[in-house]
Amino acid sequence: MNRRPRILIIYTGGTIGMIEDPETKVLRPFDFNHLMENVPKVKMLDYEIDNMQFDSPIDSSDMTPDDWKVIAKGIADNYDKYDGFVVLHGTDTMAYTASALSFMLENLRKPVIITGSQLPIGEVRTDGEENMITALQIAAARDHDGRPMVQEVAILFENFLWRGNRASKRSADNFNAFCSNNYPPLARIGLDIYYDKDALARSAVQPPLNPRYNLDTSVISIELFPGLTPESLRHQLATPGIKGVVLRTFGAGNTPTEPWFVDAIKEAIDKGIYIVNVTQCTSGSVRAIYKGCDALSAAGVISGRDITFEAAITKLMFLLGIGLPPNAVRSYLNTALCGEMTA
Ligand code: ASP
Repeated sequence: MNRRPRILIIYTGGTIGMIEDPETKVLRPFDFNHLMENVPKVKMLDYEIDNMQFDSPIDSSDMTPDDWKVIAKGIADNYDKYDGFVVLHGTDTMAYTASALSFMLENLRKPVIITGSQLPIGEVRTDGEENMITALQIAAARDHDGRPMVQEVAILFENFLWRGNRASKRSADNFNAFCSNNYPPLARIGLDIYYDKDALARSAVQPPLNPRYNLDTSVISIELFPGLTPESLRHQLATPGIKGVVLRTFGAGNTPTEPWFVDAIKEAIDKGIYIVNVTQCTSGSVRAIYKGCDALSAAGVISGRDITFEAAITKLMFLLGIGLPPNAVRSYLNTALCGEMTA
């Protein structure tokens, strides 16, 4: 590629662009110009950079599936015009957005790099400047054949580039705020950016991008803990209108083996509710090796294998949104669509 890389920055909000209210000391989202004024070094990158921003930038705790549609549409509508996309986003729900976008942007073959920071960009010790510049460099990176180095949704934070649907926020104050325990980093950031080509999802085939905007939010999660009562479990499973549940289980996917538990789960599945088993552990996979697992699989609980909670809940919304027949939903929930679980 002989021309300058073209990058679109989509600014949604988050700490990176926040400023402190001088009176209350509370941080609130501010506009994109403020952000760019604080990163003059961006001009040293010889890129053509355009930007889009949310009408009112938000704290990512306010992020909704409708906002994911706005981001996905921003990328899809501009897909041919740019070489890569950088999404500036709060860290709190970044892993949910990254997971949702990975499903929504079917056939993605260009970089969508999501980043933010722990300290606002205007602070002296900010991590925002470095994260933003590195994210732009990754979005512009090409291999020897001129193809985008990254062809998927990824989270760039401090020293690592993670697959978006494999990452979780792990620290509220460490600059290395994200981790991915079941999948290696796509790149390590040091003196250079060291890409791991075996970990990156790359393809020479270029099918057209197929954005899917429909998400069905009729989903809940149920967290197991010793002492969960039958009443509480049944109450949650009787939530009006729910179609899918992410069941957060113990260890390798274990649950109570008592009949009250298995019966309640079975009744919900018989009513047509999809139940996906995802471990509460931060690494490892759901595996049917203990007593009780047979009863759950026989009841129709679907193994989420080593998927993160963030990817499981957004994948459910995505699959329900497509309106597939039940067998297809069940089979896709147990299959990797875009690298979110180990095959
Ligand atoms: N509450 C902020 C947000 O998620 C935190 C951050 O950006 O680090 O928008």
